[in-house]
Order: sequence, then structure tokens, then C-alpha cells
Amino acid sequence: MQAVQYDAYGATPTLVEVPAPECPADGVLVEVRATGVCRSDWHAWQGHDPVPLPQVPGHEFAGVIAEVGPEVTERRVGERVTAPFVCGCGRCAYCAAGDAQVCPDQSQPGFTQPGSFAELVAVPAADLNVVPLPDDLDFVTAASLGCRFATAYRALTAHGRVRRGDWVAVHGCGGVGLSAVMIATALGARVVAVDVSEPALRLAKDLGAEVVVPGGPDAAPRVVEATGGGAHVSLDAVGSTDTAVASVSSLRPRGRHVQVGLLLGRHATPPLPMGVVVAKELEIHGSHGMAARDYPAMLDLVASGAVHPHRLVGSVIGLDDAGAALVAMSRPPTTAGVTVVRLGNES
Ligand SMILES: [Zn+2]
Ligand SMILES: [Zn+2]
Repeated sequence: MQAVQYDAYGATPTLVEVPAPECPADGVLVEVRATGVCRSDWHAWQGHDPVPLPQVPGHEFAGVIAEVGPEVTERRVGERVTAPFVCGCGRCAYCAAGDAQVCPDQSQPGFTQPGSFAELVAVPAADLNVVPLPDDLDFVTAASLGCRFATAYRALTAHGRVRRGDWVAVHGCGGVGLSAVMIATALGARVVAVDVSEPALRLAKDLGAEVVVPGGPDAAPRVVEATGGGAHVSLDAVGSTDTAVASVSSLRPRGRHVQVGLLLGRHATPPLPMGVVVAKELEIHGSHGMAARDYPAMLDLVASGAVHPHRLVGSVIGLDDAGAALVAMSRPPTTAGVTVVRLGNES
């Protein structure tokens, strides 16, 4: 099969012929129809998050089940499906409790195993991890839900516990941040979006942000001013020392910070103002994707028409351009929104 693969960290990812993955006994093979290009893939390719080499990137995909392992009972060949980027093992206490996103034995396509920049991708523990798609949800939109949209949804609902009328600050308006702006708005929150990029702030405003604030050292005080004393919930959707600190500093008393952006390398231990956390009784949450169990509520929100995730898709490219799209993430973005790779002709 064809796949985009890199042989070493930073080496140009190229379209090559590779053997198809084996179908796990408890898993399925999915024929990939669409797969998103995500900054997590870029981090792995750069070596910030060590992965086995050579590696096929890609972890936010949608497609059709091509093969079903003998231990799978719930899934059938031909079903239109997606899966979370964190796949649980299906055997541990966390998976049994519905918390596959923190399974100690988790696997992640594109990181621990070959990913979805390929014609076929394997999904382990399919009865736990595979999510059937509603018929009217196209593959490109479904692929854009799997990582960033789902992560934003869970950060706001499970961790942020956003209520109608709350102020929500979103630091960083890439894929996950823009998803958060859209979802928070749909939940009835008032959104302040923060970013260093003008096009990203314009798109945030289009998607429902009431206030936009340029990123930088003044971002937190400006959020506090705009929200009349601080946000109820604030997300760091970037994953950097500065944005993590700014997010915590944007909160009102009893506010909730949700760390969504990965904190890697020199950003791994941001100096959060813990004195303020104590004095204001702030909550600090980490959010790591979303388990398959929680997808139905998100898909219902999409089906209700309250959110329009296809509006987050900035460009659709072919598999032969996927490597270049990953490489392009080394430069500042010139456009806003997420890039999705489409395979085959069907939408
Ligand atoms: Zn992702
Ligand atoms: Zn598990």
C-alpha cells in the first residue's frame, strides 16, 4: 500500500510503498478516506516526542472497515468509522471505566504504531475504540473531529464544566483552539480568543469569539479586563510556558485552567503561579483527548447543527502532498484552519 513515511527525525516524509499493516486479532483495519495534519505529528517528526523509526504519521482519520479481527464482536466490514487518537488496550481498569484516554497500555497511530497517512491503518481493541459515523457526516469533517475537536469538546465539558454565560478564554487559535471557540460558543459561553496571528483571530471571531486579544505578555491582563475580573474557564491550546502561565493568570477566583496543548521539551515544566492557584482556589486540569465512550454526545452536538466543524477545515490535499504539509508546519502559518488529506474520490 502507499503511505507517507519518514526514516529519521526531520527527514523529508515521502510517499512510498510499504507492506499493509496486520489486522490485530482484537482490532480492525480501516481503509483511510481522510486524515488530518496535526501539530502532534509535526512534534513526533521533529523528535520532540520520541517514536519508533521509520514512522508513518497520522492519527486523526475516518474511513471504512476493510478487515475485522477474529476476536471483534461489534464491528463489520464496510462500516464508516473513526477512532480516538488514543486507543485503549481494552483490558485494564481505566478502559473498563471508560477512561481509555489515560490507559497505561494505550496505543496511538502515528506514534506507537504506523499511522493514517496511508491507505490502511490498524485500530486495536476495536470493540472499545472504533466509533461508527453518522451517515450524513462526511469523511473530511469526521477526520477533523478525531483529535482537536474531540479534545476541545472534552476540555470544555468534562474539565471546564462550562455553563451558559461563563467567560471562556482560549489561548491559541490553531485547530484545537478554534474548535474550542466554536464549541464554547455553542454551549452558550462568552469567548475571549487569544493568538499572535491576525488571520487566526479573524477566524476565531467568525466562529463566535466575542473578544479577541493579541497574544503576548499583556494577554492575561487584557483577558481579565475584558471579562470583568477573569475567565471562568481558560484553555492553553498551544502548549508553551508563556501560554500556560497566561491561561492560569486569566482566571477569576474558583476558575478552571485546562492544559490542552502538549508541553514538550523545554516547555515541559512551566512555572505556574501556584500562589495564585491557592489564593484564588483555581483548578488545574490536564486533558488528553477523549475516549470513544464520550463520542456520542459530541456527535449529537454536531448533528444538532449547533457547531459546524467543517468550517475548521482550511484546506484539503492529496496523500502525495501530506509530507510537504507536515514540513510546512516548521514555518509560521500563512492560513488559518486545519489541513485534511483526502484519499480516494468519495467525500
Ligand atoms: Zn492531532
Ligand atoms: Zn487499557
